[in-house]
Amino acid sequence: MFKLNEDKCLRCGGCVGICPVAALELTETGIVCNEEKCIKCGNCESFCPVAAIKIEKDKK
Ligand code: SF4
Ligand code: SF4
Repeated sequence: MFKLNEDKCLRCGGCVGICPVAALELTETGIVCNEEKCIKCGNCESFCPVAAIKIEKDKK
């Protein structure tokens, strides 16, 4: 599960570019994650300069 702290997010778009499966999109309301595509690699979480992203492992 992709969680975004919208108060922290700078809308820099960096996480969008670093996602290996292009699951992230920068929209008018912020960063949106396509959970169908996301493989929980954690790249976006590590990359974000302000630590606005948290990737939580699902218990599917
Ligand atoms: S890298 Fe972080 S600050 Fe930049 S758009 Fe993504 S979530 Fe927001
Ligand atoms: S965890 Fe990996 S696959 Fe999921 S949105 Fe972040 S960079 Fe993309």
